[in-house]
Amino acid sequence: MHSTALLNEADRLMTVCNSCRYCEGLCAVFPAMEMRRAFADGDLNYLANLCHACGACYTDCQFSPPHEFNVNVPATLAALRAESWAAYAWPRALSSLFARNGVAISIIAAVSVVVFIYGFAAFNDPQVLRGIHTGPGAFYVLMPHNAMAALFGAAFLYAIQALAMGLRAFWRDIGEPTGTLTNPPSLWQAMKDAGRLRYLDGGGVGCFNEDERPTDRRRVYHHLTFYGFLLCFASTCVATLYHYLLAREAPYAWWDLPVVLGTLGGIGLVVGPIGLLMEKAKRDTALMDTGSSGMDAAFTLMLFLTGVTGLALLVWRETSAMGPLLALHLGVVFALFITMPYGKFVHGLYRFAALVRYARERRMMAE
Ligand code: SF4
Ligand code: SF4
Repeated sequence: MHSTALLNEADRLMTVCNSCRYCEGLCAVFPAMEMRRAFADGDLNYLANLCHACGACYTDCQFSPPHEFNVNVPATLAALRAESWAAYAWPRALSSLFARNGVAISIIAAVSVVVFIYGFAAFNDPQVLRGIHTGPGAFYVLMPHNAMAALFGAAFLYAIQALAMGLRAFWRDIGEPTGTLTNPPSLWQAMKDAGRLRYLDGGGVGCFNEDERPTDRRRVYHHLTFYGFLLCFASTCVATLYHYLLAREAPYAWWDLPVVLGTLGGIGLVVGPIGLLMEKAKRDTALMDTGSSGMDAAFTLMLFLTGVTGLALLVWRETSAMGPLLALHLGVVFALFITMPYGKFVHGLYRFAALVRYARERRMMAE
């Protein structure tokens, strides 16, 4: 017996699959499963986080409903993933609160910061909010750079701390030695697999969504979102280096590196999340864990709003709309940071860690 009903169900399915093995070429889950004869809680959580939810094993399965074996690997592993994320979250109480009210909490957090920044500016100089500000340092008339850096630095450090605690809990649960996470060949293999979403392709044909015709749309939209996020992060890092190393203050010209990276990333963060939400709306609900859609929707929404508000700020930064748009963008980014450890963002972290372990296991099998 396992500690939860979902773990029991996942154990039942993996036992059936381990006898059948028809799906072993579809993804990493089945080869990892075949390396085991029995499944501890941590093994099942590892397999759940290795699954990319492509849906192929449901469509291909001769035992999927209405068969009496009722084998539904994608939906069961999706629900187990969400359960594991809640168990690993730090502090855990915030996770269950967020799972129930993710969208509301994200919006309240964003609005609170917008109000704070607006109040801060209005208290110092109300004219700042209505004026047109251009040239180096224009953004900091709303809020001094040091205050902005302190506010966002604190939110970022909190997110890093909470994510690191979650990763530690996952790593302990699956019983993997700490050294694997710093093992270069395993890390490199996992980076290659995660970077091209190797296991979101249904064994080479694409994802299954609304019907039994696979497509690559989810992978394309996921790539746009993921690389959009990375480009925006790179833009912020380069702008920070400009500020502290080169004493160059934002905003920068449209051709300058932080703006180019931020613009490309912003486009990815608008198109990718819209595409993912559209695909999700069309997807066969039998393939999904509908119970955790709040976490999912909140993260996708915040990514989309980050992209939209960033691009709007770029377009209207030399008008009187700059103040409100900057406050809005900062509010959304702040909310994204502090909700990241409790929303769908964590799937990237745990899935990557699972891929590192899988790469290590594959190498050991080959030796
Ligand atoms: S999902 Fe179905 S077809 Fe695939 S391995 Fe499991 S039991 Fe076999
Ligand atoms: S849904 Fe796709 S990734 Fe997940 S176990 Fe099935 S085939 Fe593998």
